[in-house]
Amino acid sequence: QYKLKAGLAKTRDKLGKELAALFGGGQIDEDIYEELESILLTADMGVDATNHLLKQVRERVTLAGLKDASELKGALKGALGDLIAPLERPLNTDSGAPFIIMVAGVNGAGKTTSIGKLAKYFQSQGKSVLLAAGDTFRAAAREQLMAWGERNNVVVIAQDGGDSAAVIFDAIQAAKARNIDIVLADTAGRLPTQLHLMEEIKKVKRVIAKAEPDGPHEVLLVLDANIGQNALSQVKVFDEALGLTGLVLTKLDGTAKGGVIAGIAKTRPIPLRFIGVGEGIDDLRPFVAKDYVDALID
Ligand code: GDP
Repeated sequence: QYKLKAGLAKTRDKLGKELAALFGGGQIDEDIYEELESILLTADMGVDATNHLLKQVRERVTLAGLKDASELKGALKGALGDLIAPLERPLNTDSGAPFIIMVAGVNGAGKTTSIGKLAKYFQSQGKSVLLAAGDTFRAAAREQLMAWGERNNVVVIAQDGGDSAAVIFDAIQAAKARNIDIVLADTAGRLPTQLHLMEEIKKVKRVIAKAEPDGPHEVLLVLDANIGQNALSQVKVFDEALGLTGLVLTKLDGTAKGGVIAGIAKTRPIPLRFIGVGEGIDDLRPFVAKDYVDALID
């Protein structure tokens, strides 16, 4: 909990301070709602989530007959908690042998780093992991993954050149031969301006299903929290192309845009499996809605 607060320091600094000032005292009136609206918008919650939260807060105020601004804090925490609670659906990897996790995202989102952190996380739960170096777009990604695998004694399947789908197909066969529990498949990143180029990654998904009829068991999109509201359009594009089953939101520690989680919850509530709050190996953690609300507003 402490670590999460520290990780969310930038969003807390901005949103938390502004809210604390707002809740500082006085009567609840229209000015306060207007100010609350602009505070939520500047934390990158987006118009839809902000309108939704304001409506919920007003309802709570009316229902409970609240008068004092200090009572708005509880109302807002309740409304935000309700909004983002559906995103809290921890990833269960028991249903596949191996359980295949396909990982997508634009370049620089933190895809490769998150795969390393996830491998560690699953190992700590007693699962065996194999990595597929399917990011053939960024030459360094393969080296990064292989070096990481060597350091941590995790098998990495990679190919010189070759295409993403072929590498991942091989990796699934290798995982089956070795009785591995979880395959983490990196895929070719793309530039944010190339979001329309989804054919290659769709093919990766089809090829995974050829290697393992139930797979992929999880299609994860890795998002950089720094992009704020643009995350919503990335989620939409990838979801329409691949049918996402989970999200990873990285770099929450480096941004004041942590409110984007509310925007995702309102517009496309895909389970937020993990959040990244630092560069360390343990800085990727399962998303817990209540902890998040408590860390933001206290
Ligand atoms: P990829 O292109 O999507 O594979 O991106 P990388 O995994 O190479 O990550 C890009 C940069 O983001 C690296 O410098 C990572 O260390 C950094 N990074 C990833 N996740 C986090 C995070 O949660 N917090 C911080 N501060 N940095 C992160």
